[in-house]
Amino acid sequence: MRSMTETLLNPDDVETVYRRLAEAMPGRTRGAKGPKGQPDAFRSCISCMLSAQSRDANTAAAVSALFALAHTPEGILDLSDDTIATAIRPCGLYNMKTRNIRRFCETLLAEHGGVVPDTRKGLMALPGIGRKCADIVLSFTFGHDVIAVDTHVHRVCNRIGLASGKTDARTAQSLEERSPDWAMRDGHFWLIQFGKRICTARTPRCDRCPVSDLCLWYKASMQDGDG
Ligand code: SF4
Repeated sequence: MRSMTETLLNPDDVETVYRRLAEAMPGRTRGAKGPKGQPDAFRSCISCMLSAQSRDANTAAAVSALFALAHTPEGILDLSDDTIATAIRPCGLYNMKTRNIRRFCETLLAEHGGVVPDTRKGLMALPGIGRKCADIVLSFTFGHDVIAVDTHVHRVCNRIGLASGKTDARTAQSLEERSPDWAMRDGHFWLIQFGKRICTARTPRCDRCPVSDLCLWYKASMQDGDG
């Protein structure tokens, strides 16, 4: 089976896909919380950094251990590297993540007075914050109309033909250019739920998919005779 499509849906079909997903999937709710349920932008950024290449349960353990020690830039900078690394060890890549956390806190204090900026440009200028983390923080913590692209959203968009990109960041750029304004507020929520429930990584449930007649990956699979 193909994992990616090389073509894109036309704008009318993009609109149709979003309308159907809006009917089938829950959108943003009042209960939508920052990454891993963190209560402020600083902790959301750190949590997102720790989640890189880590399972949710391991990230949660690392986040919980670190924030039990400190949860402000000043407090974290008072910790030794060894203390930080030991706390976040469950989420892997802990030496690199420790360096990023320290540089992130130093830069945040030096350039923003410890206040997390609420723009993509400002966030992405901070050490350890890439496009995905920036968009997640903008969407969840600051409530901006941004479709954050994680692994689920990336997969779904490239399969259907909503957007195209080999990396999450490139898919995010493509998706932003091709999505109607009205879909930006809830798009992340529709797409991520769709990716978890229907268009799953290993065995997508194409037989119960509301957009199978439009999905370019499905059409290609059927033409190949392996759908
Ligand atoms: S038809 Fe299959 S591959 Fe395409 S979006 Fe639906 S579940 Fe995913």
